[in-house]
Amino acid sequence: MSTPVRCFIGLGSNLENPIEQVSSAIEELAALPETQLLNASSLYRSAPVGPQDQPDFINAVAELETQLEAHALLDQLQALEQKHQRIRERHWGPRTLDLDLLLYGEQHIDTERLRVPHPFMRERSFVLHPLAEICPDLRLPDGEPLASLIMENPMGSLAKI
Ligand code: AMP
Repeated sequence: MSTPVRCFIGLGSNLENPIEQVSSAIEELAALPETQLLNASSLYRSAPVGPQDQPDFINAVAELETQLEAHALLDQLQALEQKHQRIRERHWGPRTLDLDLLLYGEQHIDTERLRVPHPFMRERSFVLHPLAEICPDLRLPDGEPLASLIMENPMGSLAKI
């Protein structure tokens, strides 16, 4: 048995009842094989960046402990994304659920399919604030405290719901 690794998943949706999409996805993360849900943030609402003719986003962050290898975990996340896509409609279209592997233990991963820490997490308020809610003392693998990233990225339009 491999040693369990603590990891964080960013969830987002702005289509087809996003609150339900994100809430059910958190339950589905809890049911992944060789994985336990340790904690989940509140849901947050953020105004869309760019075009305003689209619904607000709902975001959250989940903390897991898993014995899945990182790419196997990504496979599971992508399967969940596809499941939510299928529920909505058969054709390709806007995404109902986005799942990002933010952090996987202390590891730096840079492969064709997977970059960890997630390349944009340092500048996304809708990732940093939910993460700080459940793990305020977290440091990134390079030692940078989450608290200093929070100072650089204020809540802005982000609101806890
Ligand atoms: P997006 O739809 O923008 O979330 O991008 C999905 C693509 O990003 C997929 O092809 C993944 O293989 C790739 N990817 C790279 N790093 C990550 C990560 N840390 N979490 C999720 N997807 C990732």
